[in-house]
Amino acid sequence: MNRKNRVILHSDMNSFYASVELIDYPQYKGLPLAVGGDEENRHGIILAKTLEAKKMGVKTGEAIWEAKKKCPNLIILPPHYEKYLYYSKKAHDIYYDYTNQVEPYGMDECWLDVTGSIKLFESGEKIAEEIRNRIKKELSLTVSIGVSFNKVFAKLGSDMKKPDAVTIINKENFKNIVWPLKCEELIMVGKATKKKLNKIGIKTIGDIAKTKVNILKNILGINGVKLWKWANGIDDSEVRDYHYKSSVKTIGHGITTKSDLVNDNEVRDVFQELAQDISRKLIEYELLATGVAINVRSNLLTRKTFQKKLAYPTFSSLELTEAAMELFKQYDWNSNLRTLTIRAIDLIDDNYAFQVCMFENIKEHERNIKLENTIYSIRKKHGENCITYCNLLVNDKMPTDDREKVIMPYSYN
Ligand SMILES: [Mg+2]
Repeated sequence: MNRKNRVILHSDMNSFYASVELIDYPQYKGLPLAVGGDEENRHGIILAKTLEAKKMGVKTGEAIWEAKKKCPNLIILPPHYEKYLYYSKKAHDIYYDYTNQVEPYGMDECWLDVTGSIKLFESGEKIAEEIRNRIKKELSLTVSIGVSFNKVFAKLGSDMKKPDAVTIINKENFKNIVWPLKCEELIMVGKATKKKLNKIGIKTIGDIAKTKVNILKNILGINGVKLWKWANGIDDSEVRDYHYKSSVKTIGHGITTKSDLVNDNEVRDVFQELAQDISRKLIEYELLATGVAINVRSNLLTRKTFQKKLAYPTFSSLELTEAAMELFKQYDWNSNLRTLTIRAIDLIDDNYAFQVCMFENIKEHERNIKLENTIYSIRKKHGENCITYCNLLVNDKMPTDDREKVIMPYSYN
């Protein structure tokens, strides 16, 4: 592929959760509104907010009570993830009209490589304008789109004008547009990195670009080199092809617990914990499991393996856990357990997913799939530990150090 003249879009749905809520609650338009976890619960957090709430200082990720201190009139609605998934999918459908290279980043952002569609549509800007208009007309939502020659600048562009806007960053203008921005605007520059950069007088992206690469390497390691390249417009990373599939055939995860597991409930919690990691990988690789295998090792070091086919292809951690527990019924507790492994086996591409409609129980299966997708999106945006199942919060038998990774029989990354 010719990476020299790529046309990449980054589309970001504006105040996504809050905007979707406003479709159903138009009476709140123009008022400060946020979507947040359970208001009864003091620990509920702000998941999204409207521009009006943002102007009052409300921040995503802060506690609801903190937000209310700054903005006493703040309207808080509980999240409706099924609605967000619905609109996210509708937006993806629009993107796929322009390219099959669509790489989601959370539920509301996507990169699109439209290089191959330029002949048909004239320019990246034309495509971006068309997408912006269609999303507004067809979904009653707005997007900000960055158009550039690489992923990093496209993402930066989508942050520059909001809402409902298109920003072009090209090889001619990037020094004028990108370089004056603060260094933390660059993807991957978090608080710690910003601090290190500021300490040696680097304030803007332009400062990063003009600093000797070795200086950055000394203070940030390999990431310093990356930042320097990105600031200079050098980023060859690809937008993942929608149809790309990995050759992974099985994904497994196992651990040795801190102390012996003595009953079914404890075993379930461990399987569920492990299944969540597997589920995340299945989603990332766009794969579904059609079977599950478990391996149990007792404290006497005897080993047993069981496996079964699943009723539906799935990536749901709940369904993987259920299947593991069904298999586990075959274990007769002659001794307590120390090591458990669960594997998703006989993996298939997830574009076979529609076949599940032939089965019964489809409602529950769909609910599980949606739940898993939602958890995945939230974790991707707000961090691995921000959401979990409540029964797992008290699981004190899981080791806290690096878990044993199961060795895959097939090439894996
Ligand atoms: Mg957004």
